[in-house]
Amino acid sequence: MLRRGDTGPRVVGLREELARAGAPAGADPEEDVFDDALERVVRAFQQERGLRADGVVGPQTSRALDGARWRLGDRVLRFVPGHLLHGDDVTALQDRLLQLGLLDDRRDGRYGPRTEAGVRELQRSSGTAVDGVLGPETLAALRRLDRSVGGGDASGLRDLERTAQARRRASGRVVLLDPAHGGTDRGSVGHGLEEAEVVLDLAQRLEGRLAASGTTAVLSRGADQRPSAEERAELAESVAADVVLSLHCDALVPAGLDAGHALPPAAASGLATFSWGSATARSTEGARLAGLVHRELLARTGLADCRTHTWNTDLLRLTRMPAVRVEVGYLTSPDDAALVRDPAFRDRCAEALAVALHRFFLEEEDDVPTGLLPVVGAGA
Ligand SMILES: [Zn+2]
Repeated sequence: MLRRGDTGPRVVGLREELARAGAPAGADPEEDVFDDALERVVRAFQQERGLRADGVVGPQTSRALDGARWRLGDRVLRFVPGHLLHGDDVTALQDRLLQLGLLDDRRDGRYGPRTEAGVRELQRSSGTAVDGVLGPETLAALRRLDRSVGGGDASGLRDLERTAQARRRASGRVVLLDPAHGGTDRGSVGHGLEEAEVVLDLAQRLEGRLAASGTTAVLSRGADQRPSAEERAELAESVAADVVLSLHCDALVPAGLDAGHALPPAAASGLATFSWGSATARSTEGARLAGLVHRELLARTGLADCRTHTWNTDLLRLTRMPAVRVEVGYLTSPDDAALVRDPAFRDRCAEALAVALHRFFLEEEDDVPTGLLPVVGAGA
């Protein structure tokens, strides 16, 4: 909670968020005192969004501020059951659907089933592929419709369309990010680190990077949940994930103890990556993704190379889409633990994983003529 009289960096952060939401608060963005003027801006922001205009920044206002950073076209929008996308871009879309008579409901800023139905109707009536996903083609169709019905800001929408085009190749994909273990199952432990916490943090860092490039990331669990492998696989299926990325850290477990891990490789430190395979079959796409994930992580982390392998294990076996399990270091290794503890190291891991996923999707589309592929930046 933030209110008048508060001071500190969080107040500066609030000013930044308000500015991003188009409600600049005061002449000095570095001012770290929550003063009367700032309170007036917060009240106006709350009023505009139908929130209680009390000038106090609580959970609801924080959520509205978070949603305010998205403009229509910044990212691909789709209905993800259980993880509704929300933000100003969804509200803008709903406004247009209402204008066009394609939405009969109040706008709520959440991409739920009714919004998806409206987008499908828009796609049917404009002759674009009907998938309920607001991507570049559908945005372009919306722009054409806006012109014909009048009142739309055509030049603004053209900019948005360009932005969307630039992000097109890696966009529209869904990745299930699976932080392993969770809840009471802490996974591997060592040197004060717990695998369940480390991999959730890693997944959250990666989620942000993927969202910025238009890839929808769905996390398989929160901090307190411990879904079964079957439940994780079902979630991947229900959100129509294109790939599954399961994040683990390993530990050297004394013989005879089973901590739910593979037998440790010869060296009890380093990075190992797995895709599905049995004695008689293997997933070729899984192996391709595993190769990319392993290569990018090795290049950026300095972890020892425990190579890629096939493994007929739970989540890899239960999922039908390409799935990869990565063991990012041994928490029982002092060297690995020191790396894993460092937030900058985790950022490098997230960057490596985002790049690997982009490459995986781009290679799938290698029939695209050379020159049309946009550069997918490492931080995108
Ligand atoms: Zn694990």
